[in-house]
Amino acid sequence: MSHLAGSHLIGAHTKALHETGKQEVVSIQSHAKHPIYYQQQETVWRPARDSLEEPVIPAPSLFATLVSPADHAGGDAEADALPTVGECATHLQLLHVFYALRVRIVESAELDKTFGVEQNRTTVWRTRYRSRYGSSKYQHPLGDATWKARRKEKFKYYLVVAAARFQEWVRKADAALAGTEQGTGSLCLAFLPPLDVLMVWHAFLLNPRDFEDYCRKHRLGRIRKVAFPWAQIHSAIDSRTDTFTLPKDAAASADSAGLAPDLFAFLADVSKAPSLVAPTLVRFGGSTDESIQRQLDNRVAPAAAATAILCTGRSTSTSPKNTDPSPSLGVPASASASASASASSSTATRQSKTTTISAEFNFLLVLFTHGGTPTTPNTTTATATATAYSNTALIANVQRQAVFADKMHAQLWLRSPAAAHTLSRAVSRYAQFLSLFRAHPGQTLVPALDVDLAWHTHQLSASAYCAGVRARAGRFIDHDDKLGAGVLKGALERTAEWYFVAFGGLYAPCLCWDCEAAAEAMEREVNGNGDGDGEEEEEDRMGKLVDAVQDELHYYRSVEAARRAGKRLPVREKVAA
Ligand SMILES: [Zn+2]
Repeated sequence: MSHLAGSHLIGAHTKALHETGKQEVVSIQSHAKHPIYYQQQETVWRPARDSLEEPVIPAPSLFATLVSPADHAGGDAEADALPTVGECATHLQLLHVFYALRVRIVESAELDKTFGVEQNRTTVWRTRYRSRYGSSKYQHPLGDATWKARRKEKFKYYLVVAAARFQEWVRKADAALAGTEQGTGSLCLAFLPPLDVLMVWHAFLLNPRDFEDYCRKHRLGRIRKVAFPWAQIHSAIDSRTDTFTLPKDAAASADSAGLAPDLFAFLADVSKAPSLVAPTLVRFGGSTDESIQRQLDNRVAPAAAATAILCTGRSTSTSPKNTDPSPSLGVPASASASASASASSSTATRQSKTTTISAEFNFLLVLFTHGGTPTTPNTTTATATATAYSNTALIANVQRQAVFADKMHAQLWLRSPAAAHTLSRAVSRYAQFLSLFRAHPGQTLVPALDVDLAWHTHQLSASAYCAGVRARAGRFIDHDDKLGAGVLKGALERTAEWYFVAFGGLYAPCLCWDCEAAAEAMEREVNGNGDGDGEEEEEDRMGKLVDAVQDELHYYRSVEAARRAGKRLPVREKVAA
């Protein structure tokens, strides 16, 4: 606790806070199973009367530094600009959305059906002995020990589809940016991509060297210049539920590019009605990794999918246009155009059915163009190179990022009372981290957890990051999250030493809610109060300060417990327990 400068008293107090915090967090995490903990907390703070009275956490002020895309356009940002607190906070919102999506996918019974993940209902014959009647045989059901693990695999199946959609989207998005370049400034996406595509793109960007190579290889110079759309993402997220809703115009744009705007909803619907794509998807669950790969990477369409394409009768007229590597976003995909034309005289229901068919048809095309290609004469060399950076690598990126999302979800800085403090210090510590690269040329440095968040946030605007680290660190810094634990540990210890020598502080302090809230309060105290108090007054003041911090922490935990339980959030008004 020596990182808390300012008082000889605060050390002991912080330790106490840290310990209480751990216990209260345990009670939040277990309240779902043990409602009694939630009851105890709820009686301390009065629940809001209505939603208007509820607190807004994270506070809107945390995002005040976000810049709208219009203000971004054409503006040449300073080369050495750092990520802002608003961007880091939005990044946390996005990571929480990714986390919640993964949980939803794994727990979805609808997706179990879609991907053909079934519980093994095996039974064994057992013998029952009865003294009077002798023995009889009966069937005894066996539990399926692999069921849980197999359900988790659904996230990977989802990513197989998402990766193919990303490959389709990134070309169209790059093409749509044509003509928007002004000078050397960053570019702005007109529309957010669907969430699954955003997730694949996000994880890809966190491998800066790979993304640069990919863009060069595929002549995607514009997408690399895009400033990550933080303001748009912030508006699309509801942090109360950790959900992401694509704005209407962005959804329409995705739709017209042949991408279902909400992949989860699309996949959940597959099992509910007769579907062209069902026969392909339902085989994922019974497949090994290799056989999915063989289906998609070896460009051999499963017979079912090939039949589906033939059944639509549109493969010859639509394939060339859909596999064109550079159609622009905003132009309706030819499949839906021809579908609605042929259905012009039909009723509303028939029309909507045709639309579904064309959506599914597009889905198959995307899946097999970028995950593998149907064996049709339309297979071009352009689609053959499209998988040079394989979907397997894209999927692995997302899975590594899921580990980071788990860490951020465990820390939960976004919902803590000291969020602004934690994030603004993370950004300044990140600047210090970059300057260490200049001081230690050729060395591998490892970020502390808060520094890592700021670093990731920076990397998401690819070309701005490249210029930024060159300006600050004097060299390009790649981000390699594939290093082994042993290498990491040694490098982290070295980095901490260099950090201490250069800046004199703890490099990797405890960043739990309690330690952070205490640190923030201490900083306020040190900045706001002159010396000259006697020791007794100081002790008294510290005691009050710690009480206030403890109250604040307890309130924030109660809000979080209520949010997770789906209850009305409490207000800052104590009621008798
Ligand atoms: Zn702590």
